[in-house]
Amino acid sequence: AGPDPAIEIIKNRLSNVKHKIIILSGKGGVGKSTVTSLLGHALSKLNPDINVGILDADICGPSQPRVLGVRGEQVHNSGSGWSPVYVTDNLSLMSIGFLLSSPDDAVIWRGPKKNGMIKQFLSEVDWGDLDYLLIDTPPGTSDEHLSAVQYLSQAGVTGAIVVTTPQEVALLDVRKEIQFCRKVGLPIIGVVENMSLFVCPNCKSRSEIFPATTGGAAQLCAELALRPLGALPLDPLLARACDAGADFVRELPHSPAVAALGRIVAEI
Ligand code: ADP
Repeated sequence: AGPDPAIEIIKNRLSNVKHKIIILSGKGGVGKSTVTSLLGHALSKLNPDINVGILDADICGPSQPRVLGVRGEQVHNSGSGWSPVYVTDNLSLMSIGFLLSSPDDAVIWRGPKKNGMIKQFLSEVDWGDLDYLLIDTPPGTSDEHLSAVQYLSQAGVTGAIVVTTPQEVALLDVRKEIQFCRKVGLPIIGVVENMSLFVCPNCKSRSEIFPATTGGAAQLCAELALRPLGALPLDPLLARACDAGADFVRELPHSPAVAALGRIVAEI
Protein backbone atom coordinates (compact mmCIF):
# COMPACT_ATOMS: atom_id res chain seq x y z
CA ALA A 1 0.00 0.00 0.00
CA GLY A 2 1.18 3.52 -0.80
CA PRO A 3 1.13 6.39 1.66
CA ASP A 4 -2.25 7.04 3.24
CA PRO A 5 -3.81 10.10 1.56
CA ALA A 6 -5.45 11.04 4.88
CA ILE A 7 -2.01 11.88 6.30
CA GLU A 8 -1.70 14.92 4.01
CA ILE A 9 -5.23 16.01 4.90
CA ILE A 10 -4.42 15.78 8.61
CA LYS A 11 -1.10 17.61 8.22
CA ASN A 12 -2.93 20.35 6.40
CA ARG A 13 -5.70 20.53 8.97
CA LEU A 14 -3.21 20.77 11.81
CA SER A 15 -0.85 23.19 10.08
CA ASN A 16 -2.01 26.03 12.35
CA VAL A 17 -1.28 24.05 15.49
CA LYS A 18 2.18 24.79 16.89
CA HIS A 19 2.65 21.93 19.35
CA LYS A 20 0.80 18.67 18.79
CA ILE A 21 1.35 16.53 21.84
CA ILE A 22 -0.03 13.08 22.54
CA ILE A 23 -0.42 11.89 26.10
CA LEU A 24 0.38 8.22 26.46
CA SER A 25 0.27 5.65 29.20
CA GLY A 26 0.84 1.95 28.84
CA LYS A 27 -1.75 0.94 31.40
CA GLY A 28 -5.23 2.35 31.95
CA GLY A 29 -6.20 4.10 35.16
CA VAL A 30 -2.83 5.72 35.83
CA GLY A 31 -4.18 9.25 35.33
CA LYS A 32 -3.54 9.94 31.63
CA SER A 33 -6.87 11.73 31.10
CA THR A 34 -6.51 13.63 34.35
CA VAL A 35 -3.03 14.82 33.43
CA THR A 36 -4.28 15.83 29.96
CA SER A 37 -7.09 17.98 31.34
CA LEU A 38 -4.87 19.52 34.01
CA LEU A 39 -2.24 20.38 31.43
CA GLY A 40 -4.98 21.93 29.29
CA HIS A 41 -6.13 24.13 32.15
CA ALA A 42 -2.60 25.03 33.23
CA LEU A 43 -1.28 25.82 29.74
CA SER A 44 -4.32 27.92 28.87
CA LYS A 45 -3.81 29.96 32.04
CA LEU A 46 -0.21 30.82 31.26
CA ASN A 47 -1.43 33.62 29.04
CA PRO A 48 -4.87 34.51 27.59
CA ASP A 49 -3.31 34.61 24.12
CA ILE A 50 -2.29 30.98 24.30
CA ASN A 51 -4.90 28.75 22.66
CA VAL A 52 -5.13 25.16 23.77
CA GLY A 53 -7.22 22.34 22.32
CA ILE A 54 -7.83 18.89 23.73
CA LEU A 55 -8.72 16.01 21.44
CA ASP A 56 -10.25 13.23 23.50
CA ALA A 57 -9.40 10.30 21.28
CA ASP A 58 -9.88 7.83 24.13
CA ILE A 59 -12.51 6.05 22.13
CA CYS A 60 -13.08 3.38 24.79
CA GLY A 61 -13.79 5.74 27.65
CA PRO A 62 -14.03 9.39 26.66
CA SER A 63 -13.87 11.15 30.02
CA GLN A 64 -12.85 14.69 29.06
CA PRO A 65 -16.38 16.15 28.71
CA ARG A 66 -17.07 15.22 32.33
CA VAL A 67 -13.67 16.22 33.71
CA LEU A 68 -13.81 19.56 31.91
CA GLY A 69 -17.41 20.20 32.97
CA VAL A 70 -18.93 20.30 29.46
CA ARG A 71 -20.82 17.02 29.44
CA GLY A 72 -23.97 17.10 27.35
CA GLU A 73 -22.78 19.97 25.12
CA GLN A 74 -23.58 19.73 21.43
CA VAL A 75 -20.97 19.85 18.72
CA HIS A 76 -21.77 21.17 15.28
CA ASN A 77 -20.46 20.19 11.92
CA SER A 78 -20.27 23.07 9.48
CA GLY A 79 -18.66 23.44 6.08
CA SER A 80 -15.26 23.83 7.71
CA GLY A 81 -15.56 20.75 9.92
CA TRP A 82 -16.55 19.94 13.49
CA SER A 83 -16.40 22.90 15.86
CA PRO A 84 -14.98 21.99 19.25
CA VAL A 85 -16.70 22.92 22.51
CA TYR A 86 -15.16 25.86 24.36
CA VAL A 87 -14.42 25.15 28.03
CA THR A 88 -13.05 28.68 28.44
CA ASP A 89 -12.19 31.37 25.89
CA ASN A 90 -8.86 29.73 25.10
CA LEU A 91 -9.43 26.06 25.94
CA SER A 92 -11.44 23.92 23.53
CA LEU A 93 -12.38 20.26 23.47
CA MET A 94 -13.47 17.72 20.91
CA SER A 95 -14.45 14.31 22.22
CA ILE A 96 -16.11 11.20 20.93
CA GLY A 97 -18.22 11.66 24.07
CA PHE A 98 -20.08 14.50 22.33
CA LEU A 99 -21.12 12.19 19.54
CA LEU A 100 -22.62 9.46 21.73
CA SER A 101 -26.35 9.42 22.25
CA SER A 102 -25.94 8.87 25.98
CA PRO A 103 -22.91 9.70 28.14
CA ASP A 104 -23.08 6.15 29.47
CA ASP A 105 -22.87 4.49 26.06
CA ALA A 106 -19.93 2.16 26.04
CA VAL A 107 -17.93 2.45 22.87
CA ILE A 108 -16.41 -0.90 22.20
CA TRP A 109 -15.08 -0.70 18.70
CA ARG A 110 -12.61 -2.96 17.10
CA GLY A 111 -9.23 -1.76 15.91
CA PRO A 112 -9.82 -0.58 12.34
CA LYS A 113 -12.97 1.29 13.26
CA LYS A 114 -11.31 2.81 16.30
CA ASN A 115 -8.34 4.00 14.30
CA GLY A 116 -10.67 5.23 11.57
CA MET A 117 -12.41 7.38 14.13
CA ILE A 118 -9.11 8.86 15.30
CA LYS A 119 -8.20 9.67 11.70
CA GLN A 120 -11.57 11.26 11.15
CA PHE A 121 -11.20 13.36 14.27
CA LEU A 122 -7.76 14.50 13.25
CA SER A 123 -8.87 15.48 9.79
CA GLU A 124 -12.29 16.96 10.49
CA VAL A 125 -12.06 19.15 13.58
CA ASP A 126 -11.76 22.86 12.89
CA TRP A 127 -9.50 24.00 15.73
CA GLY A 128 -8.50 27.37 14.32
CA ASP A 129 -5.06 28.57 15.43
CA LEU A 130 -3.73 26.64 18.40
CA ASP A 131 -0.53 26.84 20.39
CA TYR A 132 -1.07 23.41 21.90
CA LEU A 133 -3.19 20.46 20.87
CA LEU A 134 -3.21 17.78 23.56
CA ILE A 135 -4.33 14.39 22.30
CA ASP A 136 -5.65 11.98 24.92
CA THR A 137 -5.16 8.53 23.42
CA PRO A 138 -6.70 5.21 24.47
CA PRO A 139 -4.45 3.23 26.84
CA GLY A 140 -2.85 -0.02 25.86
CA THR A 141 0.05 -1.63 24.12
CA SER A 142 -1.96 -3.75 21.68
CA ASP A 143 -1.08 -3.69 17.99
CA GLU A 144 -4.07 -1.54 17.14
CA HIS A 145 -3.10 1.00 19.76
CA LEU A 146 0.48 1.08 18.56
CA SER A 147 -0.65 1.53 14.98
CA ALA A 148 -2.67 4.58 16.09
CA VAL A 149 0.47 6.01 17.73
CA GLN A 150 2.49 5.34 14.59
CA TYR A 151 -0.17 7.03 12.51
CA LEU A 152 -0.17 10.10 14.72
CA SER A 153 3.57 10.30 14.42
CA GLN A 154 3.35 10.15 10.60
CA ALA A 155 0.67 12.84 10.72
CA GLY A 156 3.14 15.24 12.30
CA VAL A 157 2.62 14.95 16.06
CA THR A 158 5.39 16.92 17.78
CA GLY A 159 6.00 14.62 20.69
CA ALA A 160 4.61 12.45 23.45
CA ILE A 161 4.21 12.96 27.16
CA VAL A 162 4.21 9.67 28.98
CA VAL A 163 2.21 9.22 32.19
CA THR A 164 2.88 6.41 34.64
CA THR A 165 2.47 5.48 38.26
CA PRO A 166 5.49 3.95 39.99
CA GLN A 167 3.84 0.50 40.00
CA GLU A 168 5.76 -2.32 38.41
CA VAL A 169 2.91 -3.21 36.00
CA ALA A 170 2.52 0.38 34.85
CA LEU A 171 6.26 0.81 34.36
CA LEU A 172 6.49 -2.39 32.34
CA ASP A 173 3.74 -1.28 29.97
CA VAL A 174 5.11 2.22 29.65
CA ARG A 175 8.51 0.83 28.75
CA LYS A 176 6.93 -1.03 25.81
CA GLU A 177 5.19 2.16 24.75
CA ILE A 178 8.43 4.16 24.91
CA GLN A 179 10.31 1.59 22.89
CA PHE A 180 7.61 1.69 20.28
CA CYS A 181 7.70 5.50 20.09
CA ARG A 182 11.44 5.27 19.52
CA LYS A 183 10.96 2.67 16.80
CA VAL A 184 8.57 4.92 14.87
CA GLY A 185 10.63 8.05 15.50
CA LEU A 186 8.15 9.86 17.77
CA PRO A 187 10.06 12.14 20.16
CA ILE A 188 9.26 11.74 23.85
CA ILE A 189 8.99 15.07 25.65
CA GLY A 190 9.23 13.48 29.08
CA VAL A 191 7.62 11.38 31.77
CA VAL A 192 5.05 12.47 34.35
CA GLU A 193 4.85 10.33 37.45
CA ASN A 194 1.35 10.27 38.92
CA MET A 195 0.02 9.21 42.30
CA SER A 196 3.39 8.29 43.78
CA LEU A 197 2.95 10.36 46.90
CA PHE A 198 0.24 11.48 49.31
CA VAL A 199 0.68 14.63 51.34
CA CYS A 200 -1.64 14.60 54.36
CA PRO A 201 -3.71 17.81 54.26
CA ASN A 202 -3.74 17.94 58.08
CA CYS A 203 -0.26 17.08 59.28
CA LYS A 204 1.55 17.57 55.91
CA SER A 205 3.38 14.29 56.32
CA ARG A 206 4.31 12.57 53.06
CA SER A 207 3.46 8.93 52.38
CA GLU A 208 4.58 6.87 49.44
CA ILE A 209 1.69 5.01 47.81
CA PHE A 210 3.76 2.25 46.21
CA PRO A 211 6.79 2.05 48.50
CA ALA A 212 8.19 -1.07 46.84
CA THR A 213 8.71 0.83 43.60
CA THR A 214 9.32 4.37 44.79
CA GLY A 215 11.68 6.08 42.39
CA GLY A 216 10.60 3.71 39.61
CA ALA A 217 9.82 6.51 37.16
CA ALA A 218 13.11 8.29 37.88
CA GLN A 219 14.95 5.03 37.33
CA LEU A 220 13.10 4.46 34.06
CA CYS A 221 14.06 7.96 32.91
CA ALA A 222 17.70 7.46 33.85
CA GLU A 223 17.84 4.11 32.11
CA LEU A 224 16.17 5.25 28.90
CA ALA A 225 17.65 8.77 28.85
CA LEU A 226 14.25 10.45 29.19
CA ARG A 227 13.40 13.71 30.86
CA PRO A 228 11.44 13.43 34.13
CA LEU A 229 8.78 16.16 33.97
CA GLY A 230 7.81 15.86 37.60
CA ALA A 231 5.47 14.01 39.90
CA LEU A 232 1.80 14.70 40.66
CA PRO A 233 0.83 13.62 44.16
CA LEU A 234 -2.36 11.70 44.87
CA ASP A 235 -4.85 14.31 45.92
CA PRO A 236 -8.43 13.40 46.92
CA LEU A 237 -9.56 16.96 46.18
CA LEU A 238 -8.24 16.60 42.66
CA ALA A 239 -10.20 13.37 42.15
CA ARG A 240 -13.32 15.07 43.48
CA ALA A 241 -12.84 18.16 41.31
CA CYS A 242 -12.35 15.98 38.21
CA ASP A 243 -15.53 14.03 38.93
CA ALA A 244 -17.42 17.29 39.34
CA GLY A 245 -15.93 18.87 36.21
CA ALA A 246 -14.46 21.73 38.25
CA ASP A 247 -11.48 23.81 37.19
CA PHE A 248 -9.05 22.36 39.68
CA VAL A 249 -6.21 24.70 38.79
CA ARG A 250 -8.31 27.77 39.51
CA GLU A 251 -10.25 26.45 42.49
CA LEU A 252 -7.47 24.83 44.46
CA PRO A 253 -4.47 27.10 44.03
CA HIS A 254 -2.82 25.83 47.23
CA SER A 255 -3.00 22.16 46.35
CA PRO A 256 0.37 20.38 46.19
CA ALA A 257 -0.85 18.85 42.91
CA VAL A 258 -1.27 22.32 41.37
CA ALA A 259 2.23 23.30 42.49
CA ALA A 260 3.58 20.13 40.89
CA LEU A 261 1.58 20.86 37.74
CA GLY A 262 3.15 24.31 37.48
CA ARG A 263 6.59 22.71 37.51
CA ILE A 264 5.53 20.20 34.84
CA VAL A 265 4.19 22.94 32.56
CA ALA A 266 7.43 24.86 32.91
CA GLU A 267 9.30 21.81 31.63
CA ILE A 268 7.17 21.28 28.51
P1 ADP B 1 -6.52 7.05 32.70
O1 ADP B 1 -6.86 8.13 31.76
O2 ADP B 1 -5.04 6.75 32.75
O3 ADP B 1 -7.34 5.80 32.53
P2 ADP B 1 -7.77 8.74 34.72
O4 ADP B 1 -7.12 10.04 34.42
O5 ADP B 1 -9.17 8.54 34.23
O6 ADP B 1 -6.84 7.54 34.21
O7 ADP B 1 -7.66 8.52 36.28
C1 ADP B 1 -8.22 7.40 36.93
C2 ADP B 1 -8.85 7.85 38.25
O8 ADP B 1 -7.83 8.31 39.14
C3 ADP B 1 -9.83 9.02 38.09
O9 ADP B 1 -10.91 8.79 38.93
C4 ADP B 1 -9.02 10.24 38.52
O10 ADP B 1 -9.84 11.24 39.08
C5 ADP B 1 -8.08 9.64 39.57
N1 ADP B 1 -6.79 10.35 39.63
C6 ADP B 1 -5.87 10.47 38.65
N2 ADP B 1 -4.78 11.15 39.08
C7 ADP B 1 -5.03 11.48 40.38
C8 ADP B 1 -4.30 12.20 41.40
N3 ADP B 1 -3.08 12.69 41.16
N4 ADP B 1 -4.90 12.35 42.60
C9 ADP B 1 -6.11 11.82 42.85
N5 ADP B 1 -6.84 11.14 41.96
C10 ADP B 1 -6.32 10.97 40.73
